[in-house]
Amino acid sequence: MTKTKIKAKAKTKATTAPETRPFEAEVGRLLKIVAGSLYSEREIFLRELLSNASDACDRLRYAALTDSALLAEDADLKVTVAIDRKAKTITITDNGIGMGHADLISELGTIARSGTAAFVDHLEDTDDKVSLIGQFGVGFYSSFMVAERVVVTSRKAGETQGWLWESDGEGSYTIAPFDGEARRGTAVTLHLRKDAKEFLETPRLRHIIKTYSDHIALPIRLEGGEKDAEAETVNTAQAIWTRPRKDITPEQYTEFYHHSGHLFDKPWLTIHNRVEGKIEYTNLLFVPSAKPFDLFQPERKTHIKLYVKRVFITDDQEDLLPAYLRFMRGIVDSEDMPLNISREMLQNNPVVKKIRSGLIKRILGELERKAKKDPEAYALFWDNFGAVMKEGIYENDEFSDRLLELCRMRSTAGDGLISLADYVERMKDGQDAIYYISGASPETVSRSPQLEAYRAKDVEVLLLSDPVDEFWLPRVDVYRDKPFKSVTQGGVDLSAIADADKPDADKPAKAAPGGQMDKLIALFKLTLEDEVKDVRVTERLTDSPCCLIADEGDMDMHLARLMKQHEGFGAGAKRVFEINPTHPLVKILAKRADKDGSSDELADAAWLLLDQARIVEGEPLPDQTAFARRLSKFIERGLG
Ligand code: ADP
Ligand code: MG
Repeated sequence: MTKTKIKAKAKTKATTAPETRPFEAEVGRLLKIVAGSLYSEREIFLRELLSNASDACDRLRYAALTDSALLAEDADLKVTVAIDRKAKTITITDNGIGMGHADLISELGTIARSGTAAFVDHLEDTDDKVSLIGQFGVGFYSSFMVAERVVVTSRKAGETQGWLWESDGEGSYTIAPFDGEARRGTAVTLHLRKDAKEFLETPRLRHIIKTYSDHIALPIRLEGGEKDAEAETVNTAQAIWTRPRKDITPEQYTEFYHHSGHLFDKPWLTIHNRVEGKIEYTNLLFVPSAKPFDLFQPERKTHIKLYVKRVFITDDQEDLLPAYLRFMRGIVDSEDMPLNISREMLQNNPVVKKIRSGLIKRILGELERKAKKDPEAYALFWDNFGAVMKEGIYENDEFSDRLLELCRMRSTAGDGLISLADYVERMKDGQDAIYYISGASPETVSRSPQLEAYRAKDVEVLLLSDPVDEFWLPRVDVYRDKPFKSVTQGGVDLSAIADADKPDADKPAKAAPGGQMDKLIALFKLTLEDEVKDVRVTERLTDSPCCLIADEGDMDMHLARLMKQHEGFGAGAKRVFEINPTHPLVKILAKRADKDGSSDELADAAWLLLDQARIVEGEPLPDQTAFARRLSKFIERGLG
């Protein structure tokens, strides 16, 4: 005990001895996968390191707005990539903000990005690790795809002590004071793996750097390439959004999207334009083509970076876009704000408000255009982000009307997505409402018995299956003067709509006589008194014997189920059990009720039918054993 104590003391005293620390568990798991997967596009480590170097310079420039001394000692911001063929290393150096002791631990030992845990879980479960890594972007850790050892030396702007961080990517890293020449900023040295020597070849490296850095506004220099060759600047070194659209290739746009958006798919849509007039700004925005991992995180963070006259200010300006556009990535560069604006001054800033409104109009306009011009591509967008856009309708955003027009839905009329305008155009003579049904998935809702009468009359019903649908629909009373109506709630009256032109065989069957039905209903009510609000004869069904619905004025059933899944909500209102008087089974039961009055058999039938309706709704049965017992009894009798 005393011995170890003394040892530990001795260790902390020797200031130069490196301190060993384990990676955060998730980083450890991630590194294993990254180093282990044979990733064909592993050159992206350079993309990540150049991106970090450029971010570091952006952050220094911002910090220097309020403390110019930070920049003064070395104001010429740049990034250098140096090849050392003898040592088999590549070193990426920047003179940006740098990292102190605490930064190195928190930034290079953990992953702060939201959704990381979910991502790592997902990664371990899938065979397609390669494309997932590419999609999520593993940042600094991608170094370990090509390096067996990574050494980071860094000195933070404003501090005097430099630090040396080192790791072989196997579970831990060391950190020690750096006593060499500690210039401001960061140098990342990769000791290349045997299978990664290709990255020492100058033309290859030059090409990669060019590909991944041409959009970066800083000069990226390549050093030690060919023998005696001077250092060369590889990229254009001009902020991409300041260049004319015609001079920018799709690949360059994509690279910038990867860098600024931290997403690694291809942009589905690129919106690059300059706004002039009372306020002036340039925006370069992207709609992703795949769902980002953090799309449904509770913070609903937006992701637009704000620049003022080419200087990066913040990526945390939530007011630039509403939450329902949080899938957007990209930048805005304002000409109207003062360069020394602090992040606090941005709160409630009138210029920010005007830019926000301009951006929303622009984005919605582009989406409208795309929806019209290329409905198929738009459907892909809608599948990814429709559920998010609908939050805007729920929040009753000032652009709700335009959002409603942008909505696409499935319907009973076919497989494709339709707009509300399509629906209203196709409404039948005498139809006075927009009918919809909502549930857990398009497949389950499309099989709902509640649709039968609508199908029989060829009345189209919208099939909704995003949880948010339950919330926005009650907020929107009408679309083009037509009210929305759930087919699983309240009565159904399709009498004003002409019957569909169908062969006689499909015409509705004859119903059981009213007197018989009254007796059956009375009996069912008595039996199921505690379970349902009411038992009624229905016109909603043609093929099924029964179904459940929410009473007029009660909460719709799917919403009630959703609420029940969340703690704190009780069972909700009881539902109405509806019986189809034209169904052969119901006719037999009605006849029996008329003849025998009440019987155990009829009571069992009532329970079985109710449980059956619950199963069709996808609900768990409150008493499965009783259900099984009754069912066995009936089968036995039927076969016996
Ligand atoms: P991300 O860039 O998405 O934050 P990375 O894994 O690439 O993730 O980097 C993690 C963090 O490490 C960065 O957010 C930054 O704080 C820090 N970092 C990495 N490289 C540098 C650098 N060259 N200079 C300063 N900080 C850096
Ligand atoms: Mg990064």
